[in-house]
Amino acid sequence: MRNALVTGGGSGIGKAIAERLRADGYNVATVDLNPLDEKFAYRADVTSRAEIDEALAAIHAELGPVTILVNAAGMEKYKRFRNLSFEDWQRIVDVNLSGVFHTTQAVLPDMSAAGWGRIVNISSSSTHGGQPFMSPYVAAKSAVNGLTKSLALELGPEGITVNAVPPGFIDTPMLRKNEERGLLGGTVEDHIERTPVRRVGRPEDIAAATAFLCSEEAGYITGQILGVNGGRNT
Ligand code: NAP
Repeated sequence: MRNALVTGGGSGIGKAIAERLRADGYNVATVDLNPLDEKFAYRADVTSRAEIDEALAAIHAELGPVTILVNAAGMEKYKRFRNLSFEDWQRIVDVNLSGVFHTTQAVLPDMSAAGWGRIVNISSSSTHGGQPFMSPYVAAKSAVNGLTKSLALELGPEGITVNAVPPGFIDTPMLRKNEERGLLGGTVEDHIERTPVRRVGRPEDIAAATAFLCSEEAGYITGQILGVNGGRNT
């Protein structure tokens, strides 16, 4: 049975992806700042290579090598660019971009040894057109899309595919927090009116696309950015 690792698996999209991959028959481990109280859920900050290595060592001991990696941990910050401190900038880039560097580099030896691997990076639909007051987040997520394309070329010969799923407008704690703070420019209901499929996205929508990209039959798909956004960013 294949082993998968999902970062940010304690909440929202990452949690739904972990549940879906489990239902599809994989062993699934998760890492998160606040892990769920369940088997194979580890606490690790993706910006710390030492914490990722420690979690991976535990996963190796419990499950064995990891050949599926989903990078879903992420963090936003709404602030005008001119008011950002370099520390604000650095933390957002660290979590959303450097976290992908750490986890990907940490699991690569397992995938290379197996001659098979699937990496799916959860980026953001904000990369399609930009987003005011979210410049470091959009910059980091855009870099994740670029990293996805470069790694697809580099790792394809080893049987490893690398794709990105940029979600748009998905009903998670992150989205509801932004609604409460008045950061959405309206309510979720208002946005539904402006969404071609006339509903908010569900974490399960992202999980379905991710599960497909992790499957055996997606082996000829790599370097792709598969938008899942109800038609909002086409
Ligand atoms: P969420 O509910 O806040 O889940 C994100 C998870 O990542 C949280 O459990 C969070 O832990 C964890 N996390 C944050 N920083 C971390 C770190 N340094 N190390 C380990 N775990 C960390 O948000 P979500 O909406 O499901 O977002 C999942 C992914 O989708 C993110 O990458 C996000 O940027 C992306 N995304 C979401 C939407 C949307 O509409 N919801 C749109 C575009 C992109 P804590 O809660 O403890 O901080």
